[in-house]
Amino acid sequence: MVGLLPAVDPAGAADFAVQREQMVKFQIEDRGVTNTTVLAAMRKVPRHEFVPEFARPHAYDDRPLPIGEGQTISQPYIVALMTDLARLKPGERVLEVGTGSGYQAAVLAEVGAEVYTIEILEPLARSAAARLKRLGYEKVEVKAGDGYLGWKEHAPFDAILVTAAAEPVPPPLIEQLKPGGRLVMPLGQPWETQVLVVIEKDASGKTRTRRIAPVVFVPLTR
Ligand code: SAH
Repeated sequence: MVGLLPAVDPAGAADFAVQREQMVKFQIEDRGVTNTTVLAAMRKVPRHEFVPEFARPHAYDDRPLPIGEGQTISQPYIVALMTDLARLKPGERVLEVGTGSGYQAAVLAEVGAEVYTIEILEPLARSAAARLKRLGYEKVEVKAGDGYLGWKEHAPFDAILVTAAAEPVPPPLIEQLKPGGRLVMPLGQPWETQVLVVIEKDASGKTRTRRIAPVVFVPLTR
C-alpha cells in the first residue's frame, strides 16, 4: 500500500514551508505588517537555511536564534518590520550593517533591492557569502569589515539598515544616505532595551527621527 505512505521528503522542505506560512500569518501579518512585497519576501526566503543545524527545528519560532560567534539572527517579525520601514522600491540600493547569517540581506534581495552588506566578524561574513551564493542570491555583495564606516564606493544609499545597536547613529552612515533616504536601526546601549528608529533625510539634508518600538539587539562593535 505504498500509495498511502507520505511522499519522501528527507530535508523536510514541505514541513518548513508550512511553518514559514504560519510564521508570516501569525507573527507578521497579525502584528500589522500589510506590505505585500515584504510579506511575499518573508514567504519566500528559507529561514531554516540560515540557522545552524541544531536550531533548524526552531527556525520559524517567534524569536531570535544563535548563529555562532555570540551573534543572533533576528526574530522574523523584526526582520519584516525593518524591511517594511526601509520602504524599498525595486532597483533601489540598500546597505545593511551586520550581515550575520545573511537572512536579512536575502529578504532585502527578495524585495528587489540592490544589496550591499558588511559583517565585522570574518567567519560570519565568509559563511554568509557562501550561503547567499548557494541559495541563488549571487548579486548580494558581502564584505568583511567595520560597517560603522559605511561603504563609500557604493554610496549614496536609498536605505540603510543597521542590525546591531549603537548610540549615537554612526555619522558616516547619515552621510552615505541619499536625500529622501531612510536609515533604520536600533538606537541605544548594548544589552539594554533599545528603540528601533527610522531616520529620514530630506532634500536639504536635514534628518528627522521617528521612534518605532522597543527592541533588543547585539551591540555594534568597532
Ligand atoms: N542581520 C543579521 C543578524 C545580525 S546580528 C541576520 O539576518 O542574520 C548583528 C551582526 O552585526 C553580528 O553578526 C555582528 O557581528 C555584526 N556587527 C557588529 N558590529 C559590526 C560592525 N561595526 N560592522 C559590521 N558588522 C557588525
